[in-house]
Amino acid sequence: MKRSVTVIGAGIVGLCSAIQLQRRGFNVTLLDRRPPASETSFGNAGVISRGSVFPTAAPGIHRKLPQILSNRSREARLHYRYLAQLSPWARQLFKNANVEKFEQNIDALNAIVSLCLEEHQALLHECDGLALLRQNGWLKLYRNPESFESSASEQGYMDQCGIDFERFGATQIQSMEAALKPIFTGALWIKNTASVSSPGQVCNLYAQLFSDAGGAIVLDELQQLEQDREQWQVHCVNRKIASDCIVIALGAWSKPVLEQLGYRIPMVVERGYHMHYQSSAELGRPLYDVDAGYVMSPMQKGLRVTTGVEWGSEHSEPTPVQLQQVRPFVAEAIQITDELDPEPWLGRRPCTPDSLPVIGAAHKHKNLWVAFGHGHMGFSMGPITGRLIAELMTGSSTAIETDCYKLARF
Ligand SMILES: Cc1cc2nc3c(=O)[nH]c(=O)nc-3n(C[C@H](O)[C@H](O)[C@H](O)COP(=O)(O)OP(=O)(O)OC[C@H]3O[C@@H](n4cnc5c(N)ncnc54)[C@H](O)[C@@H]3O)c2cc1C
Repeated sequence: MKRSVTVIGAGIVGLCSAIQLQRRGFNVTLLDRRPPASETSFGNAGVISRGSVFPTAAPGIHRKLPQILSNRSREARLHYRYLAQLSPWARQLFKNANVEKFEQNIDALNAIVSLCLEEHQALLHECDGLALLRQNGWLKLYRNPESFESSASEQGYMDQCGIDFERFGATQIQSMEAALKPIFTGALWIKNTASVSSPGQVCNLYAQLFSDAGGAIVLDELQQLEQDREQWQVHCVNRKIASDCIVIALGAWSKPVLEQLGYRIPMVVERGYHMHYQSSAELGRPLYDVDAGYVMSPMQKGLRVTTGVEWGSEHSEPTPVQLQQVRPFVAEAIQITDELDPEPWLGRRPCTPDSLPVIGAAHKHKNLWVAFGHGHMGFSMGPITGRLIAELMTGSSTAIETDCYKLARF
């Protein structure tokens, strides 16, 4: 008889885990309280980034603290009421902020990031979604020559990681993205990066791939997990689901569920916003305006501007201050007119202190597996995470070494 598994959470990570488990012979139920990809996987910047191998915990991070703690940074903002909840994460973050740990974490990120694009390509090919994928890299743009020069150490690490990039001056930037106003003095073009014109639509195609192969998507809210001899009981608001195995892929909502089961997770939620703008200027690829602290991506709906980090509790009201702060910088860089969304969209990035995802067995329980904590890179890492979790659950050899991502590291 087929083994049954309930994958809880139908964001990009849960969807891809469900697909890969189904292919390896499991009877899969995918559970979410909302339709697939209604949360963070819907509204991100859609970059499948090869160059994002840098953990937040970098040597010298403490020098940024005064600016962050006084809310003077456009890139990071803090709800002071959330400060106490940040401390277990912050303690471990600082333990990771030395050269040795930083380089270890770069290696661990590089291993998984290097496989993101090919896994997306394979899935998009199967669901006729390749038209949504642009394979022309992304640009990190610098306004100040000094900040461009200070990216030298980052460039050195990218070389070591085998990341293909080019340094651009102002003229090359203009010839690549003619719609930009001539305010940028330097750029890094990260080449083997791709992007999509609708992350939500990509997820919907993946959900369709799963359903077409006989997978069940159940809309209900998880309330409690209980292990009853060899079986798991998933208690939801409207039903109870019994299954042999569980995969927790609840993104930013994974922590409270695992805490109920006795795991301590030093994870925080880094909120981020987006707004679409009307623009007659056409961009070929996503851009990161490093000195102004936002990303803009050409999407089906318009020009999507996404913000940096806001540390705030899951339940606090949206405070899209950073969107207001970056808007004049966006207008300086490119022609924009109307806002196209009635309200700013709010998403929640699940962030660990070492910036590595959590993938593997939950060590205190049998047949409980986890796939969460993908931070700023979950859209990229979803498909490879699905493959790794399915390989681990079937005892197959894994595409890469997975020890560095295990839950028991905390
Ligand atoms: C502004 C912004 C820009 C970003 N840009 C990028 C980018 O360019 N590239 C990139 O790779 N990543 C990016 N990210 C990060 C990426 O979006 C996330 O890492 C990723 O979407 C996380 O996916 P997930 O499946 O783990 O979580 P989610 O997509 O958040 O899915 C979790 C699911 O759990 C469900 N859920 C929660 N509680 C319950 C419950 N009790 N019962 C049932 N279901 C429940 C939710 O409804 C949700 O569907 C960005 C994030 C933000 C916020």
